[in-house]
Amino acid sequence: MRPIPLIRPYITEEVKTKVCEVLDSGYLTEGPVAKELEEAFTSYVGCKHSIAVTSCTTGLEIALRALQIGSGDEVIVPDYTYPATADVVAIVGATIVLVDVSPATMLIDYDRLEEAITDRTKAIIPVSLFGNPLDYDRLTALQHKYGVAIIEDAACAIGAEYKGVKVGNQADIAVFSLHPRKFITTGEGGMIVTNHFQSAEWMRSYKHFGMGVQDSRLTTSFDRIGTNYKLSDLLAAVGVVQMRHIHELLQRRLELAHNYRNLLQGRSTITIPETTSSGAHSYQSFCILIEERNRIMQQLRAEGIEVQIGTYALHQHPAFISGNACRIHGKLTGSQYAFEHCLTLPLFHELTYEDQQRIVDTLCNALQGRL
Ligand SMILES: *Cc1c(COP(=O)(O)O)cnc(C)c1O
Repeated sequence: MRPIPLIRPYITEEVKTKVCEVLDSGYLTEGPVAKELEEAFTSYVGCKHSIAVTSCTTGLEIALRALQIGSGDEVIVPDYTYPATADVVAIVGATIVLVDVSPATMLIDYDRLEEAITDRTKAIIPVSLFGNPLDYDRLTALQHKYGVAIIEDAACAIGAEYKGVKVGNQADIAVFSLHPRKFITTGEGGMIVTNHFQSAEWMRSYKHFGMGVQDSRLTTSFDRIGTNYKLSDLLAAVGVVQMRHIHELLQRRLELAHNYRNLLQGRSTITIPETTSSGAHSYQSFCILIEERNRIMQQLRAEGIEVQIGTYALHQHPAFISGNACRIHGKLTGSQYAFEHCLTLPLFHELTYEDQQRIVDTLCNALQGRL
């Protein structure tokens, strides 16, 4: 049987042509094409500022730095996420506070989040995991009540919406990933978005060696200590072309997700996680929750269907053991449940309805012990 991959990046002749144009130009570092990609995000998301960086992880790190979060501060993150969400907190010297997620949505549990807020809490990094948008009615209420900043790990959520507004506009700062597991990808890369001018200016400078805005004297001024998190034009070229097609690519993902829902409907052994109410999911991943996830995963792989776990329960890993750098708030049973039960099914623009039928048939056979 023909193997079905988990994902396939959108790489067309148009993409290759754009990359070759950059190669031919001889200008390979960050330049006009990265700027084009930033403009594409600004216009698509409808936000004021977009800043291209080397990854979502480096983007989250500079977002924390822009908000002057560091030693002595606490930052709350969900336990069920990719380690990067928490890593960046420790990287800037702040304390990671891990809280549980709702097993129904796999997103941060807003009640546990509120309980975990202390006088030292400076920010929260909620995650719009798998493209499921966050409930900003809840988050904004907490923000107003406690005065904490919200940095959204929107790694998976380009194209998702909350109450008709694209993800990227609700948080103080949000960061998208351009890693190949994400639906718009440059190989490696990230995009910070914000509506705050000052933070945007600071981050733009910081990621570019602390350079100031060029003045009319044509001399460079280094205004602050900075680093190099610039996105090469060579990589940006891939994303620029994908952004030209984002509407049709997202539309296709939604059709495929809808078809999965139809095929899976009425199967009592399969739970489809809930989408946030008033939210529009972008289906970076199509996930289901099942018993005996590991056995099913192995059997599907043996049938040539590349499936994957959802993501990780951080508290299980040595890097996040409770101590000085990390505090665990309460029980993490929702996260544990998601870690053990979530299965990601293949989803990419070239997947066909026939592929999906085969995936669901194989899945159901495995669940019924018929493989
Ligand atoms: C992919 C992912 C990241 C890491 O993104 P990079 O661009 O690889 O740094 C962080 N958080 C979440 C939730 C992710 O899915």
